[in-house]
Amino acid sequence: MKYLEEFRDPEVARLYLEQLQAAVTRPWKIMEVCGGQTHAIMQYGIQELIPDKLTLLHGPGCPVCVTPLEQIDKAIAIAGQPDVIFTTFGDMLRVPGSEKDLFSVKADGGDVRVVYSPLDAVRIATDNPDKEVVFFAVGFETTAPANAMAVKQAAALGLANFSQIVAQVLVPPALEAILTAPGNQVQGFLAAGHVCTVMGYHEYEPIAARYKVPIVVTGFEPLDILEGILLVVRQLEAGRHEVENQYRRSVRRTGNEPAQDMIKAVYRVVPRQWRGIGEIPRSGLGLQAAYTAYDAEVKFQLGSIRTREPEVCISGEVLQGWKKPTDCPAFGKECTPDTPLGATMVSNEGTCAAYYRYMDPS
Ligand code: SF4
Repeated sequence: MKYLEEFRDPEVARLYLEQLQAAVTRPWKIMEVCGGQTHAIMQYGIQELIPDKLTLLHGPGCPVCVTPLEQIDKAIAIAGQPDVIFTTFGDMLRVPGSEKDLFSVKADGGDVRVVYSPLDAVRIATDNPDKEVVFFAVGFETTAPANAMAVKQAAALGLANFSQIVAQVLVPPALEAILTAPGNQVQGFLAAGHVCTVMGYHEYEPIAARYKVPIVVTGFEPLDILEGILLVVRQLEAGRHEVENQYRRSVRRTGNEPAQDMIKAVYRVVPRQWRGIGEIPRSGLGLQAAYTAYDAEVKFQLGSIRTREPEVCISGEVLQGWKKPTDCPAFGKECTPDTPLGATMVSNEGTCAAYYRYMDPS
């Protein structure tokens, strides 16, 4: 298990914890942005290991969780139409829409297929010229290059029967929305390593300077997270607010420029609704005008859709670090991974699912 065990070494973890104990003199609240980091924190009991003065707040970095309800409902409406093959990543099937989910559409006879790559959807469109093939393009900057490549490839093949519902979201505007929200408690961020692998971290530098908040690009293994927390704490204690890179084995300041070029060639920056949070300016991607023919929302002309969230669900507050899943009255009762009421209980990266899976019931 080379390249994995060295990031889970208990002796090194003990050293980081000793250094943290020595560094912390005051209470601090740090948000891990990515749902993958939230799961690692819960799985390895990191909140229990770090000094009591440190509180970890869980951020909005679960792409399935923040996909707007209106686009889920549109996906469900399109997937239920005859002569449509609807393709998506597995996590999206059980995300509740206003009335039902994509899994119910499939159970009712809809042709809903799980794919592992957006290029699989292009292949399905090539193999089924008499069907409309729609791909649900969700995710952060991490998934955007491959999703953009699928559009490019469909265009190169001259496919008229391929389109995307584009629900891509961008991390930096969400960080600004959190920092400017009334009652914000976040004093430092662990930024998501995989997003920065694509985009680099230069976009975070003006945010760290403007809001005087340390941002440390952090990986996903336990030692990554402990070192990320230590670097944030050292900055907070010293009154510094810089961007540091803990995830040096993957991330460069400028990121992966060819991947960024692919995103820019196909998508443009648009305002985007975040489920449970609301609209954040310049926080999403939509198709460039040259690729409108691949926009499923234009092709299927659904207009706007009336949406309805379950009243009990507080996932918006959970996603912004204001509340913990255990503050929700439905947690572990009406709402479980088998009967999810909100998206944060569905996804592998959802905070409610992480709490349900790893929290000590006592
Ligand atoms: S436990 Fe369920 S209902 Fe409560 S916030 Fe989480 S997803 Fe929503």
